[in-house]
Amino acid sequence: MGFNCGIVGLPNVGKSTLFNAVTRTANAQAANYPFCTIEPNVGRVAVPDERLDNINKIVNAKRVVPTFMEFVDIAGLVKGASRGEGLGNQFLGHIKQVDAIVHVVRCFEDSNVTHVDGSTDPVRDVDTINTELVYSDFETVNKSLDKMSRLLKNNDKKILASHECALRLKNHLEGLKPARSFVTLNEDEDDYLKSLHLITRKQVLYAANVNENELADNAINSKHVNALRNLAEKEGSKVVVVSAKLEEELGQLDAEEAKLYMDDLKITEPGLDRLIKAGYSLLGLMTYFTAGVQEVRAWTIPKACKAPQAAGVIHSDFEKGFICAEVYAYDDLIRLGSETKVKEAGLYRKEGRDYVCKDGDIMNFLFNV
Ligand code: GDP
Repeated sequence: MGFNCGIVGLPNVGKSTLFNAVTRTANAQAANYPFCTIEPNVGRVAVPDERLDNINKIVNAKRVVPTFMEFVDIAGLVKGASRGEGLGNQFLGHIKQVDAIVHVVRCFEDSNVTHVDGSTDPVRDVDTINTELVYSDFETVNKSLDKMSRLLKNNDKKILASHECALRLKNHLEGLKPARSFVTLNEDEDDYLKSLHLITRKQVLYAANVNENELADNAINSKHVNALRNLAEKEGSKVVVVSAKLEEELGQLDAEEAKLYMDDLKITEPGLDRLIKAGYSLLGLMTYFTAGVQEVRAWTIPKACKAPQAAGVIHSDFEKGFICAEVYAYDDLIRLGSETKVKEAGLYRKEGRDYVCKDGDIMNFLFNV
């Protein structure tokens, strides 16, 4: 199961356009990676990482395999969704399943594209969506309180503590503040919160959807994007500037044509790549590599992951029978030019069970079966 980001936003902000670009990329890649199954509302895309090709220039493996993450299309969020308007509740249910949220915000002006609230106003739009999400979490907490109230008479310590926490949380949400900013007091409260799968507890990334002519300077002069940036900064969230329409167009071109088009617009990297990278980092993920003659490959692990768990991403037997990991750094390989030179420099280490992996580690695992 991959890590995923759910795409949300008001109607007509460019979600489907962006998601189409994601799935087109996913479908194009699926030809090379047959293990990628395709589902209608999930786009499984390779995480762009130039380090893979740099390693392979040295290793010359038969195959280069990237690591993947998923985007899930969660259409249908409108004002009133938390009260069951539109297809509201069903979609809120879908958001509960994702690991993090990409919130697409309309920052482009186009009189041909109707805005549900009449004009382009990112701060108002974000507020509309966030309010729905907080309402929905409020309902979740209420339901949980209801359930617990029947059990309070048993005087179970754990339930009493959860109940206490739920009341504080309810109060917090009533102030229209996201659960993200709610402070838990101990591990039991953390566990209780986790069990609720609250939507506004998930990390969020804003995708500012702009017209393609605003991309070259990262929309530095766009009042809409700057308003969104201000809002995001206060929340401690990030903004990625994309043009959904351009991404969709780029997806229909071959690599050479796409490059010419991007040169024309004075951009060096597709917005989708930046979005994927930002989503990956939002999820708190990092990458280690395996590098052999058969295959150079990227693997996803959570930050602060220890060596046996990293081995387990390849195969559960690697984790169960873990003996040690042979580790060297990507930077050392590139600087010195070969694995042999890394060994000669004494930078090829053996690490045990407690080793905390670093982004860019190149690893080989020794294990018993
Ligand atoms: P959704 O309802 O959020 O999924 O929105 P859509 O992706 O269906 O987009 C709504 C309309 O906005 C479509 O006609 C798109 O072509 C248009 N659109 C999307 N992104 C852009 C953009 O960056 N610039 C302009 N001018 N139009 C866009």
